[in-house]
Amino acid sequence: LPLCRVLPKLELHAHLNGSIRSSTLLELAAEHSQNGAVSYPELVSIIEKEKRSLPETFKLFGLIRLVTTNHQVVTRITREVIEDFAAENIIYVELRTTPKNNPAVGMTKRSYMEAVMAGFNTDSIAFNRIYVRLILSIDRRETTEAAIETVRLAFDMRQEGCEIVGIDLSGDPAIGEWKTFLPALTLAREMGLPLALHCGEVHNPEEVKSILDFHPERLGHVCCLDDLEWQALLASKIPVEVCLTSNVATLTVPCVADHHFVELYKAKHPIVICTDDPGIFCTTLSREYALAASCLDLVSEEVVKLAKEAINLSFAEPQLKQTLHQLFDFSHLKQA
Ligand code: 5GP
Repeated sequence: LPLCRVLPKLELHAHLNGSIRSSTLLELAAEHSQNGAVSYPELVSIIEKEKRSLPETFKLFGLIRLVTTNHQVVTRITREVIEDFAAENIIYVELRTTPKNNPAVGMTKRSYMEAVMAGFNTDSIAFNRIYVRLILSIDRRETTEAAIETVRLAFDMRQEGCEIVGIDLSGDPAIGEWKTFLPALTLAREMGLPLALHCGEVHNPEEVKSILDFHPERLGHVCCLDDLEWQALLASKIPVEVCLTSNVATLTVPCVADHHFVELYKAKHPIVICTDDPGIFCTTLSREYALAASCLDLVSEEVVKLAKEAINLSFAEPQLKQTLHQLFDFSHLKQA
């Protein structure tokens, strides 16, 4: 773990509201329980559970949504998440979040994103300790039109110079159909926005096949694949975002040692170690690297190589990729 702490790291799969500090979540829940919006005891009991099934996890996301409703809270969470990532030597993060409308507080998808970017006002960013880029998520509950609205927003804001680098498809995998999102994802591709899509979190061979045929730039999870799809994944060489603790905590895979990333690593398939939702699953990227390293029996050089390979899998602009390479070359890993 000491090496994994000092290791410069890139986080390519972290959901903003899944990265919320537990202390902030409890504070917000206590405020909202006073007006009856959430049940504080229920929230505490879900947070305190070490493992929760995927449906329970999405119940928790529903509760988080209820307490993260206004612009100030969104800005605060973003700032705290960036500071927490920078504190464990994450030098680059692609933070993903779902733009939300909330007419009750005058929130539109755009104003939500502006509130997120107001959270970039941190010392860590000012002093280049961390570079932050954004991926806009389409929630699987959304309609085709709502998904297209998110893609257009990403395109427009990127044109305006905002740090938006891609599009994600996430949300409860038991909900929604591929054909609903395909028009928005096709539009994103036409607009030059790379795609990092959640794939195979539940058994859904038809959707997995469609996603693999669509060939997104990256895939998240890929836990529940049949043999045929697994072979197609290996042949595709599509990089996989590996979220060990999240997959075990949501009971999607039985244990880290049996996780499919072992086979991906041995097959030299491109992978990147990520946290998914460090706040929800009480983990850190350093811990995820330590888990991966012990599971794969890696020596220090191999851990550094694994972390460094994330640069090429990121959606960072070429010049920033160069800077990140230099940060690895100049880091003092040998002292660890
Ligand atoms: P937000 O987009 O609100 O910043 O982050 C929380 C949201 O990310 C959740 O409500 C959910 O839509 C999505 N999310 C977080 N973790 C996961 C995950 O493990 N799987 C999927 N499919 N979606 C997730």
